[in-house]
Amino acid sequence: MAAAGSPVLANFVDGVWLPSDGDATLDLPDPATNTILARVPLSSDRLVDAVVAAARRAFPPWSATPVPERARRLARFRGRLEEEAEELARTVVRENGKTLSEAEGSVRRGLEAAEFALSAPTLLQGSSLRDVSPGVDVETTRHPLGVVAGITPFNFPVMVPLWMAPMAIACGNTFVLKPSERAALSAQSIARLFEESGLPPGVFNLVHGAGPTAAALVAHPGVDAVAFVGSAPAAKEVYTRAAATGKRVLALAGAKNHLIVLPDADLDRTVPAIMSSAFGSAGERCLAASVVIAVEPVGEALVSQLAAKVRGLHLGSGLEPESEMGPVIRADHQQRVEEWIRRGERDGATLIATGATPEGTGGNFLAPVLFDRVRPEMALAQEEIFGPVLSVIRATSLAEAIDFANRSRFGNAASVFTRDGRSAREFSQRIEAGMVGINIGVPAPPAFFPFVGWKGSVYGDLAATGRESMLFYTRPKTVVSRWFPPGGAGG
Ligand code: NAD
Repeated sequence: MAAAGSPVLANFVDGVWLPSDGDATLDLPDPATNTILARVPLSSDRLVDAVVAAARRAFPPWSATPVPERARRLARFRGRLEEEAEELARTVVRENGKTLSEAEGSVRRGLEAAEFALSAPTLLQGSSLRDVSPGVDVETTRHPLGVVAGITPFNFPVMVPLWMAPMAIACGNTFVLKPSERAALSAQSIARLFEESGLPPGVFNLVHGAGPTAAALVAHPGVDAVAFVGSAPAAKEVYTRAAATGKRVLALAGAKNHLIVLPDADLDRTVPAIMSSAFGSAGERCLAASVVIAVEPVGEALVSQLAAKVRGLHLGSGLEPESEMGPVIRADHQQRVEEWIRRGERDGATLIATGATPEGTGGNFLAPVLFDRVRPEMALAQEEIFGPVLSVIRATSLAEAIDFANRSRFGNAASVFTRDGRSAREFSQRIEAGMVGINIGVPAPPAFFPFVGWKGSVYGDLAATGRESMLFYTRPKTVVSRWFPPGGAGG
């Protein structure tokens, strides 16, 4: 569909909305119809220079602003977020394709992260010890880093920026957001809410663009730290480049999440949990179930119940109340997922069930797919597909199931379904994943706990949320002090 009349999104730099400084743009279509909603400017290196300079200028006064005052300013932002939550959720649906209830949930999680940042006056408290030796005291305090760049993915266009910006800003940093070029409208709304909250100019900035704009930020000498969430290859590149220039960097990457179902699991509860984990947000979640490992003899019953649900899943626009699954983000992504499905069939997995797609929408609707008899070495079991494709592996014991799951190069999340506490304990001890669910399909920690995976699901240390995020956005300073009596040595 022609994009010429569609609005070009603006950058938000130093408290001012700046039009694009060039002609290069990318279309931003609604994935449910492929109608163009807007055009995203591909900002130049010059614009990146300007935005980093603005953030640098804003840093000294903002970092010197008392912490309770910083928290008060952010409380206004949090208030505006809550007022606009429903509208933000609708924007997420329009640009990302989630169902409205999924989008509302994601906005609530973002709100929770913004709320957690309000506890900065408590979180940022240091530690001290008097008389480490006679008359000598030691005190450690936490200090902001400077300018933080946040680079975010398409799949949570409100939540992931809100993992980053409020905490970075509460800690006294200034912030530059480079949102996904495939879901940039939500970032526009977030910037407007920061503007309305009365933050000083330059404390929060927004620069649009794709990989090259993000790479320019990562390489920029005026950027002190990079928070990244996205695909594994980009995460690795961002981590390597940022670390090479001495920047602090946390890059959350891809995932391949395994759900183990034991024979004693309550299938009436387990099957809906698996369905919502695998097919919620059309499988475009870093916590999505991708592989179910059925420990025999549960396989037949589990697969037949899952197959019935997959066939009955109702696809449609996220704004229609009856829709249970929306489209995937882009037509080219749909094609990539379809290629994984063909590859699965070629590799010898059994395609058990597919769902139906709505007619005549023009959107990227991809029927959900269930594979059985997948083997752990197959691409279906190893590669991140990021779409509505669920694979079932059959295992003979919990130990074998854990071994299959631990062969993954990723380690974002994993869950077990069982009624047996000892099995659950063994699973949570031995599974190599950062986020673990016991009878939970999507083990997403609340914002006051650390959100981070293991192995190839993360490059860097600490975590995107929780107290660890405060540690990421600050550095410690330790002061060792001794005070002499008046009059000096001879006095
Ligand atoms: P993506 O890697 O394509 O893009 C993410 C961001 O990186 C975008 O802003 C993009 O412009 C930018 N980018 C792309 N190439 C870059 C480069 N070479 N240098 C710097 N920046 C670059 O990811 P996506 O498709 O938008 O998001 C989906 C991916 O994100 C999935 O792999 C998913 O697992 C992952 N994800 C992970 C988590 C997590 O917590 N681990 C959370 C959400 C999403």
